[in-house]
Amino acid sequence: MVRKMTDMAATAENGFDIEQVIRLLQKEVADYQVPVVDLIAAQTKDPFKVLVATILSARTKDEVTAAACRRLFKRAATPDELARLSIADLEKIIYPVGFFRNKAKYLAALPGVLAEKFSGRVPETIDELVQLPGVGRKTANLVVAVAFGKPAICVDTHVHRIMNIWGYVQTKTPLETEMALREKLPPQYWISINSILVAFGQGTCRPRRPKCDSCIIADLCPRIGVTPRKTRPNNTKNTKSTESTKSTESTRKKEGLFFVSWNVNGLRAALKKGFLDSFFELDADIFALQEIKALPDQLPDEVRQIPGYHIFWYPAQKKGYSGTAVFSKREPLSVQYGLEEESFDAEGRVLTLEFADFYFITAYFPNAQPKLKRIDFKQRFNTRLLAHMDRLAGKKSVVLCGDLNVAHKPIDLANPKANEKNPGYSPQERAWMDEVIRAGYVDTFRLFNSDPDQYSWWSYRFNARAKNIGWRIDYFLVDPGSRDRVIDAAIHDDITGSDHCPVSLRFK
Ligand code: SF4
Repeated sequence: MVRKMTDMAATAENGFDIEQVIRLLQKEVADYQVPVVDLIAAQTKDPFKVLVATILSARTKDEVTAAACRRLFKRAATPDELARLSIADLEKIIYPVGFFRNKAKYLAALPGVLAEKFSGRVPETIDELVQLPGVGRKTANLVVAVAFGKPAICVDTHVHRIMNIWGYVQTKTPLETEMALREKLPPQYWISINSILVAFGQGTCRPRRPKCDSCIIADLCPRIGVTPRKTRPNNTKNTKSTESTKSTESTRKKEGLFFVSWNVNGLRAALKKGFLDSFFELDADIFALQEIKALPDQLPDEVRQIPGYHIFWYPAQKKGYSGTAVFSKREPLSVQYGLEEESFDAEGRVLTLEFADFYFITAYFPNAQPKLKRIDFKQRFNTRLLAHMDRLAGKKSVVLCGDLNVAHKPIDLANPKANEKNPGYSPQERAWMDEVIRAGYVDTFRLFNSDPDQYSWWSYRFNARAKNIGWRIDYFLVDPGSRDRVIDAAIHDDITGSDHCPVSLRFK
């Protein structure tokens, strides 16, 4: 009788069969990487290590958490050993996990609280666990489930979001979701649901642009409140797709390096509009920013210390103006700040990173300004930058990305006729782009897409973005010899947070 009621609860009134869905997803995510907390539980069977790994894992990639755990457990495998480390020691050991300073404080306080309240042992209930420093309800549920194998439902953002997409719950907060799931989710799935949906939520049902077109449960999912990623047909005449079909995407995902460039029009403002969500979702090997409009010390730690990235800032001397930055998973061999000319370099416009077989340049080109008041400055900048590219291209591949502040051809803006003498489309600026292309540099986006209406910037005025009255002024160019290294190029026009959208290049 109990079993029958559970089955009835498992099938939602909208016909959504949770058991069928979970069975399919279990198979789907079986090949995905095991979450680091589960791995540590399986390897050690030690609740203390599971607790510490869970605290470290928040807002941190699994590989970074795993490495920090290895370093930490070498020095402190027990609460007593942990008590001997200072906050400064802990910061050094666990860096670069997300929020490492706060987490170091929590870990330093942990042995004392365990000794005082729980006789030095890790408690087994949620109510007790949330009394520990750095442990919220989500962490407590995870520890109860993973370390002690007891029924607990760890509801993080993925579980909360996906359960609502399915209409299995209708809730506003993760806590409400946890309570609703305790009422209706069959108990045999309580422990595993978190790791299944975290893997599924990171890989397929992503927070932005979920891959509904290639989702194993697409036919069963009501997709409540979802805007799927856009896909375009492949192999249309003279046009190659920049958004991929399932098979080409999975091939591309494994190939080459993925670069993103984004004029964020003020990083502090972009952070308030979900910049980090887009950053983590895009998961670029190198992520270049223009117009950061901030000094590093005006920015929060969450963007100054992103685990797994080497970060290079080049702010303008003038506050709230211009500036560039690069986040790179690989450590470059060298970094050059600027073009060795004071008038350009005071504005933090060019960063050049050297890697073993290519140079990566990001640039924020000057705006020619109304009535072309600054066209001379821009033309001097353009000439200097092209000479810089030519010099480097003599040694190895060159990738240039950024806001070039120019639409090259009539196809690259919505109203070419009306803008013929305006900054960004003046004859002088277009002539420089002609010169660059004549020199053999490749506008990578146009290798794959010759469609009109493909833009990367829209005015904030006149509802221009909604009407797609825009300009394509953000580019990835490569040097003449590197054309064959280009795998794909795209404009991510569904990503908001700035008046520009990100553009990308996949490069072998
Ligand atoms: S169909 Fe789309 S919204 Fe539904 S689970 Fe799959 S990816 Fe998520």
